[in-house]
Amino acid sequence: MKITVFSEYGKAFREWKDVLSVHPHGLHETLKDVFSAVGEVTTVYQDDGDHCVRFTDDILNNTDVLVWWGHSMHNDVPDELAEKIAERVQRGMGVIFLHSAHMSKPFRRLMGTSCTLKWREVNERERLWVIDPVHPITRGVGEYVDIAHEEMYGEVFDIPTPDETVFIGWYQGGEVFRSGVTYRRGRGKVFYFQPGHETNESYHNEKIRLILQNAAKWAAPAEKILEKLDCPCVPALEKIAEEKE
Ligand code: ZN
Repeated sequence: MKITVFSEYGKAFREWKDVLSVHPHGLHETLKDVFSAVGEVTTVYQDDGDHCVRFTDDILNNTDVLVWWGHSMHNDVPDELAEKIAERVQRGMGVIFLHSAHMSKPFRRLMGTSCTLKWREVNERERLWVIDPVHPITRGVGEYVDIAHEEMYGEVFDIPTPDETVFIGWYQGGEVFRSGVTYRRGRGKVFYFQPGHETNESYHNEKIRLILQNAAKWAAPAEKILEKLDCPCVPALEKIAEEKE
């Protein structure tokens, strides 16, 4: 399985102590370490103000599962790239959107809604409840995952009704959130997963790592990704009798 991890890697990631203590080589390297257990990982990062020049067509065309983490540079992602990603998902590529990628262009393009939510950043506790214990993404996870510190994301989360709600997060401050949801878009599988604020240690939590690895396996295309999408005009399979007067 070829996995491409996309993440921001600007000044904040290179210089802020709170981020460096959790992701010393960048969040993309932390995620590479997670996903290397289940596939061959390529990383692509977005620097301050750049327009995803490193995210080439070649990389996209060699991706079975795309993992996307973005936060402060969503607007620098070209519309054209978001469109290409959405089309490749419809042709069969799997995609995992993490944490603040809820406002990324490719996610909003695939959802068709505003994808807005409530948030609060006070390092509160989250209990991530497994809602679907037989889903491939929750295999081996148990009943719930306790996360010591996370950013609160709260309802209402303006997404289309999910195909499957796999996790619901509960926060110390009282809110709840659909923290893990799945969709099918064309032939591709989409998973949105809430944990992963850049100054929190969620991606070092063994159960969260297991969920991410399960998600990549689940999202991998079952068949070869289609070359293109089209609307063919086809001959009839049966002889169609001429209508009588
Ligand atoms: Zn965050």
